[in-house]
Amino acid sequence: MQCDEVRRIADLYIDNQLDEDTADSVQRHLFVCATCNHDIETVRTAVALLKANIASEQPTSSFKDRTTAMLFDRLRDHLHTSSPNLSAIQWPLPID
Ligand SMILES: [Zn+2]
Repeated sequence: MQCDEVRRIADLYIDNQLDEDTADSVQRHLFVCATCNHDIETVRTAVALLKANIASEQPTSSFKDRTTAMLFDRLRDHLHTSSPNLSAIQWPLPID
């Protein structure tokens, strides 16, 4: 496997979306190519940092309330409830 091919499928490799043989080929290339190894590790680190930071963020209760009210208002005609108790809504899909 060559560098250009590794770069082309790097995202799939990082996301563990490659079949076993292709992933093994990438792995063998990374053992001998410091450039690709560095690139893959850089992306992996960035993805891990993003996931860690995103996971730690929680919406405020006022954001949840505003978003719920906005969704209820926009989907009112499709919802199977007319309950004003927004926290009790199970949000059924607007598909009959
Ligand atoms: Zn390479």
